[in-house]
Amino acid sequence: MKDPLKDYDIRFVGLKAGVHEFSYEIGSSFFALFENALIGEGKLQAEAKLDKSETEMTVDLTLKGDISMSCDRCLEQLQMPIHVTETLLIKFGEPDNSTDEIIYLPESSISFNMAQFIYELASLQVPLRVVCGENSIPDCGQQFEHFVEEESTPEQEEEEPEFIDPRWEALKKLKS
Ligand SMILES: [Zn+2]
Repeated sequence: MKDPLKDYDIRFVGLKAGVHEFSYEIGSSFFALFENALIGEGKLQAEAKLDKSETEMTVDLTLKGDISMSCDRCLEQLQMPIHVTETLLIKFGEPDNSTDEIIYLPESSISFNMAQFIYELASLQVPLRVVCGENSIPDCGQQFEHFVEEESTPEQEEEEPEFIDPRWEALKKLKS
C-alpha cells in the first residue's frame, strides 16, 4: 500500500534554482495520519514556496483555512480561522543538528517531506485554552450560560448571595 505521506514529498533533485510552488488540500484525512493529533477536523490550504539555490533551500509555508475545535466549556463546535506563514531553511548536513528553523538533510537526499511541517505549524495554532468568545476564538453565543455555570461552582453554592438578579435565578431554574 502506498504511504499516504508520500503525497507531501517534494522532490527537489532536478528542480531548477529559483522559486517553485506546491499546494496541498489539508483535511480530516491528513490529521488522521498523525497519532494523538491535536486537530481532528479542519480544512486548510497549504502553500509551500520553495526557493532553491545551489547550497540550500528555503520554504515559506502558508496555511490558510479553518480548524474545528470544541469549546472546553460548552463543547460547542467552533471553526477557528487560521492564516499563518512560517519559513524553514533546508541545508545539507547532519540531520541530528536540525533545529526548529533549520532542517539538515543528508547529502544524498533527493526529496523531503512536508507533512510534518504542515502538521506542526497547524498544531501550533491550536490555543491551549479553547473557549468560545475568548481571544480570537469565534463566539458560539453561549457566554451567558458559561457565566451561570461559573456562579454555581460548589464552593459558591454554600453561601447565599445577598442579591440574586431575578434573570439569573430564572436561568438557573431552567437549567436544573
Ligand atoms: Zn462555549
